[in-house]
Order: sequence, then structure tokens, then C-alpha cells
Amino acid sequence: MPGNARIDGKRLWDSLMGMAEIGATPKGGVRRITLTEVDLAGRNRFAQWCGAAGLKLSVDAMGNMFARREGRNPAAPPVLMGSHLDSQPSGGKFDGALGVIAGLEVMRTLNDLDITTERPVVLVNWTDEEGTRFGRSLMGSGVWAGVYDLEATYAVTDIDGISVKQALDRIGFAGPEKAAPFPADAYFELHIEQGPILEREAKTIGIVTGAQAQVWFDAKLEGQDSHAGTTPPGARRDALVGAARIITLVDKMMREQGEDGRGTVGFLEVIPNSRNVVPGEVRFSVEFRHPDDTTLDRLDHDFEPAAFAIAREAGLKLTLTRLFKFKAQPFDPDCVGLVEAAAHRLGYPARRIVSGAGHDAVYVARRMPAAMIFTPCRDGLSHNEAEHIEPDQAEAGCQVLFEAVLARANRPL
Ligand SMILES: [Zn+2]
Repeated sequence: MPGNARIDGKRLWDSLMGMAEIGATPKGGVRRITLTEVDLAGRNRFAQWCGAAGLKLSVDAMGNMFARREGRNPAAPPVLMGSHLDSQPSGGKFDGALGVIAGLEVMRTLNDLDITTERPVVLVNWTDEEGTRFGRSLMGSGVWAGVYDLEATYAVTDIDGISVKQALDRIGFAGPEKAAPFPADAYFELHIEQGPILEREAKTIGIVTGAQAQVWFDAKLEGQDSHAGTTPPGARRDALVGAARIITLVDKMMREQGEDGRGTVGFLEVIPNSRNVVPGEVRFSVEFRHPDDTTLDRLDHDFEPAAFAIAREAGLKLTLTRLFKFKAQPFDPDCVGLVEAAAHRLGYPARRIVSGAGHDAVYVARRMPAAMIFTPCRDGLSHNEAEHIEPDQAEAGCQVLFEAVLARANRPL
């Protein structure tokens, strides 16, 4: 013990599929948008499963759900684990749900084996990780960790003008607990990688060492609308040509960083977007990410003057708005070590990896030692209804989660 203690892979898979029924889409994905009736149905099923496992459930003012299993020492700071049950509008079955349902399987296994941990263990379902409805990702964990203000977050509205607070009230999930950190020992989150690296290298487990630094911009280029047939080259102020050059710049700057570089223009709006008009205005997004703060700072520093030079040369006016810049968030070496030790002891092919996406664990890590475990996903595909993992991959990830949480919860007080 815990040498031979195994989670139940079939029970884990059955519960994952049970959760995937809620908001199931015809193409095999899920649509479980935060704080909707569908989210409520998912929350209710989760609460029912927690109750059946003897867990004590509490809900905070952001609708974050905490399911507690008592330890030998109830006053000791608990070990947390969890993820999110909300999804993208056409999301997959596993993004978020894997971490929550695997946490439930950890609890069920502790029950089956009649294990009383030294510290309590608490399973969390964070509200609105995806940011798809209210435009703010990691919302529940962000408020909880003190990154976002509660009242300001309550006032944010969706496209229909419904505020976060109204949406919470409608499904009865504006809970009585304060949305603020309570003393806790550590946090572990199992998640699908949402990228191709583990699959490409035939690794079963990703030992996540941290999340990368990011900087996001909104960009607007203004030139002049003019007739496509009558405007000679010298008279054109084509905003789309300027945007294309800046997109090429972003890609070039990214590629110069090697394997760890990330630079993306994923949103582009062409105005007036007509085939016989030289485009007078283009709005687009720009983001860079890198595991190393110094490198990201350099990308950030170099991008602006280069982009403005392109705009000037094309006779365009560039407006660049910096939306935010995050520092890299390293995870706790001890927690990462527990994940690594579990993966090695279990004989799973594993590698260290930096998270390319944002996760609840990134904000939680600002408040306590934290770490993440990744499982591979087919073709690296996520935020897509075709997102898929194999049952044995889910089982391996859950087994590592179990061992890391158990080791941490039993660490001498
Ligand atoms: Zn997720």
C-alpha cells in the first residue's frame, strides 16, 4: 500500500461516459456551457455521485463546488484536486471532465480500500474555465485565487445581457461559502494535453512543470477603402496586405524560437470584406507564448516596433492594444516530483512538459503548491467534438493522480 492499490478503470470510463451524456452533441462531443441548464444537469449528476461516495459538498459564491473526504486530522489543510465540467460550445468529452471524474474515482478508490488519509482530500469543480459565455476564461478559479474581483465578475454579462450573478442565481449555484482561498496543502489537476507532443513521442503521462508566459494583443490597421479596379499600386492603402505582413512577422518571430516558440494570429476581421474593394480596415488578434519569461519579454519588446514599421511602410495606421501579459507559472517542485515518482513507479512512459494552454491550476498555483498531469489525446485535438482519449490513457492518468494525491495527503503533518 499504495503499491498495489489500483483505481477502477472501467468505473472511471463509465462515469466519464455518464457525464458526457449531459449536453451530448450528434457528432460525439458535448456542449455544456457554463451556468446553463445543461451545466446544472452536469453539476447535479456530479453532486449525486459525490453524495453516494460519502463526500461532503459545499459551494462558494462563484458556484465552485468542493467535495470533501475527511482525513484523520480534520484540522489539517486538505489536499485539493479537480478541474472543470463546463465545455466549449462544440467541445469534447474529456477537456475538464477528465480531471473532475478522475478525482471522483480517486475518492471512490480511497473508500473501497478503506483508506483514511492524514489530511482531508477535497475534489473541486471550478466554474467557467472555458470563458466561452462571459469572455473570461478561468473565471471561477480566478475569483477564488484573487486574480479577479468578485463583484466586478458578477457584473460581467453574456451576449444576451445576463450577468454572471443572474446566471448563478438562475441555476441556484451562488453558494454561501466565500470565493477565496482557504488553507490548503496542495492542488493536483489531471487534464488532457490538448496538443500533439505526448502522442507523437508515445508517452502515456505528461509531468507538467508549469505553464508558459503569454502576451495578447488586439490590433487594428487602418488604410483606405478604394475601388479594386481603379486604384493603382501607388495609391493603395490596403489594410489587409499590412495585416498579412504582420501575420508573417508573428510566424517568423515564433519560428526563430525553435520548438518552444508560439505566435498566433487566430482572429481576423476584414472591413468591408468585399471582393472588389481594397480593404480599408482590418482587426486581428496577436499572441505570443513561451515557457521562459525572458524570451517572452524579448518577443514582446521586438514585436511592437517591427509591426509599426510594417504599418508605416504600407501607409497604414496601426493601433495595438495589449490585453494582458502573464508571467510563466512554474509548478511546485515537490508536487511535480510526486507526479514524476508515481509515473515512474507505475512504469508509464512519461516526459516533462510545459502546459501550452491556460488551466485552473495556473491560478490556484499562485496560492498553494500545485502540479498537473497530462494524458495524450488523439491527434492532439481538443476544443473539438472529435476530441478523444483511450480508456487505458484515462486510467493511467487517474492512477498517477491517485498516487500523487495519496502521497501528499499522507505526508507527515
Ligand atoms: Zn480544460
